[in-house]
Amino acid sequence: MDIRFEKSLKLKEKIKDENKLGFGTYFTDYMFLMDYDEKNGWNDPRIVPYGNIEIQPSAMGLHYGQTIFEGLKAYKNDGKVYLFRADENFKRMNESNDRLCIPPVDEEFMMEALKKLIDIERDWVPDSKEASLYIRPFIIATEPKLGVHPSDSYLLMIILSPSGPYYKDGLAPMKIYVEDKYVRAVKGGIGTAKAGGNYAASLKSQIEAEENGYFQVLWIDGVDRKYVEEVGSMNIFFVTDDGIITPELNGSILSGITRKSIIELLKAEGQKVVEKKIAIDEIMDLHKKGKLLEVFGTGTAAVVSPVGELFYNGEKVVINNGEIGKVSQHLYDELTDIQWARKKGPEGWQI
Ligand code: PMP
Repeated sequence: MDIRFEKSLKLKEKIKDENKLGFGTYFTDYMFLMDYDEKNGWNDPRIVPYGNIEIQPSAMGLHYGQTIFEGLKAYKNDGKVYLFRADENFKRMNESNDRLCIPPVDEEFMMEALKKLIDIERDWVPDSKEASLYIRPFIIATEPKLGVHPSDSYLLMIILSPSGPYYKDGLAPMKIYVEDKYVRAVKGGIGTAKAGGNYAASLKSQIEAEENGYFQVLWIDGVDRKYVEEVGSMNIFFVTDDGIITPELNGSILSGITRKSIIELLKAEGQKVVEKKIAIDEIMDLHKKGKLLEVFGTGTAAVVSPVGELFYNGEKVVINNGEIGKVSQHLYDELTDIQWARKKGPEGWQI
């Protein structure tokens, strides 16, 4: 499929001070769009000026949440732009599509489309330390009909947002509230998909945690109400005196690409990493015995985010004296060096 290009008549002014970019506030000059209908499949791929889109108020995605998204970044080093494991994002996009009854996309074609868009927008990729271009591919159901069933038409979009450093002054340990009231997702639901509804489900809990002075919540499974799942919108790892453990993918956890990369890096270093069911009580017990050395979250936005404090069941647990642990710092340095291509990563990671 050829990708049509519609030139913008007026390009935007770029933000000069990249430290002021924040996250997800500014958008570049162009976006990628592609339509789906039952007769033509995915069709009319195009790169057009960023701007409003037209869908009917009855578009199904606006009512019943038949939408999915992805999140990844482009990194600039020495004038060259790199993508990190972007093929994994389109693979996960198709997994989300499958769960939400959205037709699959051609992953190779999506890589080609993304590369073309990034190439046109290369000047928008920030080059100051730790700043990057956030990439948001997403799909929304557009059939103008109110019956609850899978839509027969869709719009796929990729928008780009230059974003500042997540940490301005180095890694900062987070205070985390262990959520025992609300549930993000349940096994059999849509937690493994990157679908809007999961994030809507998390908002109330996040607000209440913030009101209590916590940065994010630690999600506990919705069935047994015992097992640790994720931290905010990150996967979670625990460093113990007997290796590193992380919750196994259980049907409600999102399969993070940073998670997968961290596991692969640790294994390549010869470290012990175990994916298993982890009860919150096991974590509290490890802490009491002095065997819980570090806790950290992983995700595209923050890469590695140390946890300095957990609040559970009326009990405050301080981890590693509330300081950044050695393992967290090492993994952050290692992964960001690969993402910014300051160092050669495993085959296929730097695109
Ligand atoms: N869990 C959730 C719920 C998320 O939204 C994210 C961010 N995509 C992650 C985990 C981490 O995934 P990734 O490492 O692919 O960014």
